[in-house]
Amino acid sequence: MKSEEKSKRNPAWSRDEIILALDLYRQFEGGWPKGNDEKVIELSQLLNQFWQGQGYVGHTLRNTNGIKMKLMNLRVHDPKYGHLAGLKAGSKLEAEVWNNFWNCPDYLIETAAAIRSAIASLSRDVSGKLDGLPIDELEGAEAVEGRLLTAVHSRRERSWEIVKNKKDDVLAKKGCLVCEACGFDFVKRYGERGVGFIECHHIKPLAELSGEIKTQLSDLALLCANCHRMIHAKRPWLTIEELRRILR
Ligand SMILES: [Zn+2]
Ligand SMILES: [Zn+2]
Repeated sequence: MKSEEKSKRNPAWSRDEIILALDLYRQFEGGWPKGNDEKVIELSQLLNQFWQGQGYVGHTLRNTNGIKMKLMNLRVHDPKYGHLAGLKAGSKLEAEVWNNFWNCPDYLIETAAAIRSAIASLSRDVSGKLDGLPIDELEGAEAVEGRLLTAVHSRRERSWEIVKNKKDDVLAKKGCLVCEACGFDFVKRYGERGVGFIECHHIKPLAELSGEIKTQLSDLALLCANCHRMIHAKRPWLTIEELRRILR
């Protein structure tokens, strides 16, 4: 196979996509959807659009058949079907998603909605690409909710305008920018070089990010780089209060 063709092969299913498939599986109760089922077509279009934005092409790219096959793959994790002969062992990622979400349907529904709206907003983006999003940086901290959603979360935290507004607001009220968890003050430690430097952390859970919710200043917390990193280092992410308790 020529290398150019190879690069166009369909990407492996990501965690976020498996979550969306599981949500569909839940709706069909593990059954085989009809040929022209709207929900299947909708998911196929959403994922197709997203991957095309990432430079993938091809008529089999997340087509409706591929979606249905994925739904059937999920059966192996379902106690209802798991004992049927002929089912291949599922992937580790599928098993993880299944275990994280299957017994918490509300969490699954919320998370799937947030992922769908995150993908739609990325696809609407002029660039449409994930370039510039700290996806690799986040890989070690693979999100239960998926990398895509984590990337969107992180992008919101880095949105220049809202971050500037948050810092201005705190500066006007307190006269300094200090870490809300440990009290670190960049100016005290680094002098002139630390002026205006601090990171913003979005405290709203990812699953609540569905829809076009505008970030409020109260949704953001100011954190030093270390504390911010510690919050995101492992799942589940810590709340600011939990981190404070560790530091005490
Ligand atoms: Zn700190
Ligand atoms: Zn954060």
